[in-house]
Amino acid sequence: MGRELRDLRVSVTDRCNFRCRYCMPRERFGEGHTFLPRRALLSFPEIHRFVLACLPLGLKKVRITGGEPLLRPGLDELVSMLSETGVETALTTNASLLSRHAPELAASGLDRVTVSLDALDPEIHSRMTDCSIPVEDVLEGIQSAIDNDLGPVKVNCVVQRGVNESEVPALVRKFRGTGVTVRFIEYMDVGRTNGWSRGQVVSTNDMLEYLMGEFELVPVEPESPSDVATRWAHSDGSGEIGFISSVSSPFCGDCVRARLSADGHLFTCLFASGGHDLRAIIHEDSDTQVLTDAIAAVWRRRSDRYSELRSSETSSLPRIEMSYIGG
Ligand code: SAM
Ligand code: SF4
Ligand code: SF4
Repeated sequence: MGRELRDLRVSVTDRCNFRCRYCMPRERFGEGHTFLPRRALLSFPEIHRFVLACLPLGLKKVRITGGEPLLRPGLDELVSMLSETGVETALTTNASLLSRHAPELAASGLDRVTVSLDALDPEIHSRMTDCSIPVEDVLEGIQSAIDNDLGPVKVNCVVQRGVNESEVPALVRKFRGTGVTVRFIEYMDVGRTNGWSRGQVVSTNDMLEYLMGEFELVPVEPESPSDVATRWAHSDGSGEIGFISSVSSPFCGDCVRARLSADGHLFTCLFASGGHDLRAIIHEDSDTQVLTDAIAAVWRRRSDRYSELRSSETSSLPRIEMSYIGG
């Protein structure tokens, strides 16, 4: 399909201090759940070598994710190592720990931060994250990202019908004029534990129609064909919002994204049934070219277009969880 490997998401841990119900429901990720043991995680030098191996294949951007990436100690060391390779470095985080790490992340060369925030209302927030960490900690994290120039800061909000639709206009109001872009994501059928159904998805069209009642929004041209978000701007110049319409308007044809799990499996699609175990080659301290060839061989065979095919046939296939593969 002629897609380059331009964007790599690296999961640095499968653990998280939140239990968002659509991602790590507590019933499935509670006491009884076995997380990856510490020794199974790729080391920072191994991740660095993997990134070096992707450079000849066109890699431009690495996003550090998880689980909650800020639970991994010394993340700024990884950011420094990756920055030196010349790729753009980004972090996706729930921001609960961001205010204490933002200065060191900025000093290590992190280019941008995306914060996941599904609700401003404390009750809705705690119901969705199913933990006792207050929304104020997340807002403090966002502010520290702004103060430390980890921008342009984006806020991603997953919208679920009957859960947080009321938060959509509230988030637009809150961040209008602050330089922060809020992007609304259609709830996806990732993994097998969240009990997704199509009825829980609020489509981009529905959100836009609703928002147009309060805000005057005008469409903005995409910067590149592989942009996953459609962009809209406030007509008075007070900022932008975006929509990621993975369910109502899939974009597999432009998907230039690979994912590396915390224990060294390469995934070429968010909905893959399995990954490609590259641990042996990653652990072996051999010529980087050997790793490049192994990654290229996986990438060349890739024919993923799950979101375009989403149907009763694909719905019964096994699927990997978002917290493992890296969102
Ligand atoms: N813990 C970090 C965070 O929440 O930003 C990084 C990992 S999290 C898996 C990455 C992103 O995946 C979050 O923005 C989260 O909202 C999104 N996500 C998880 N499950 C999802 C689903 N079923 N549909 C859409 N987005 C989802
Ligand atoms: Fe944790 Fe992020 Fe998943 Fe929420 S979405 S449970 S913060 S990994
Ligand atoms: Fe890419 Fe797979 Fe998502 Fe399609 S479904 S956009 S191939 S990750």
